[in-house]
Amino acid sequence: MAWGAKKDTASAEVKSIDLSLKQAEDMKSDMICQLGELFYDANKDNENIDEIYKEKVDTIKKLEYNCKVWNNRKLKTQGLRMCENCGNTLPYDSSFCNKCGYKLKAVSEELVII
Ligand SMILES: [Zn+2]
Repeated sequence: MAWGAKKDTASAEVKSIDLSLKQAEDMKSDMICQLGELFYDANKDNENIDEIYKEKVDTIKKLEYNCKVWNNRKLKTQGLRMCENCGNTLPYDSSFCNKCGYKLKAVSEELVII
């Protein structure tokens, strides 16, 4: 076999291995992400959580809160708000939810610093 042909075969094998490697790395990252979500859901209200996890859990809670604030701000630009009890979308100046009857609270518009 000519040297060039050997090189092409090796190159094709490396590409194939790289593809398998990337698939395995992507699956690993996805599994770690899923594990993190399971851990977070199981521990977000755990006050005795180990210190090494606490900072990250607290940061995720702040990010969840800020996502809610950004969603509130987005709805407000459309003259709307969300019922915090059932998720129904209502006119911004509503006092009660017209779906579940919940007495609406002030809309959170202040972001928390992370
Ligand atoms: Zn509601």
